[in-house]
Amino acid sequence: MRPRIGILAGIGSWEERERYFVNSAYVEAIYAAGGLPLIIPPLSDFDAYLPLIDGLLLPGGIDLDPALYGEEPQRGLGKVDPRLDKSEQDLIGAASRAALPILGICRGMQALVVAMGGKLYQDLQQAGTKLAHRQSCPPEHPWHQIEVDVGSRLGSILGTKLRVNSFHHQGAKEVVGLVPVARSADGFVEAVEGEKIIGVQWHPELMYKTDPRQFKLFQAFVEAAAHGMGTHKSQS
Ligand code: MN
Repeated sequence: MRPRIGILAGIGSWEERERYFVNSAYVEAIYAAGGLPLIIPPLSDFDAYLPLIDGLLLPGGIDLDPALYGEEPQRGLGKVDPRLDKSEQDLIGAASRAALPILGICRGMQALVVAMGGKLYQDLQQAGTKLAHRQSCPPEHPWHQIEVDVGSRLGSILGTKLRVNSFHHQGAKEVVGLVPVARSADGFVEAVEGEKIIGVQWHPELMYKTDPRQFKLFQAFVEAAAHGMGTHKSQS
């Protein structure tokens, strides 16, 4: 049985209609790694959804409202949607209470940092980096280097030195309750982990076909979800 991986949908608009959507690359990466992807709409009551999943993937997306971490909006902040923020934070809370493995990607990593009480840089350029964290080349191309901590779970999956793609302008500023385990050359956090949580600032779902290490990341996540299968069903 494939472990069921919930993927939180974003909120967008096409042809004058609002849509809930997930980029196909997330769905394909989870399926390729042996999971059963289930798209979860952004609502605010997840009690009925939680027993349906064995793991949670939080995808990339728009910015998070800085009010969530007690800051005023600053120049450089992009688009935010309080409905997505609320449902994502609620879902993270519910999934961690149920001890589900969580993989956060890009915005998903930032949402995990905020959920645990941390803070974000609203815009990395304003924060002073000279490194281009928004790449200008094909999405699967490794753009900048990162160093992963020796002895971290992520390090055992990816190795300690590698190049990753980059499509973000926000980043983790203060991390509490999670451990920063990877950094780019400018010193900014590129990954965090907790007991059942991994968050990465890059987009492994766009690299897994060309970099076996990024595929291993999805496999490890799906395996972790498989280990927990059946253990949280008593709540339903
Ligand atoms: Mn980056």
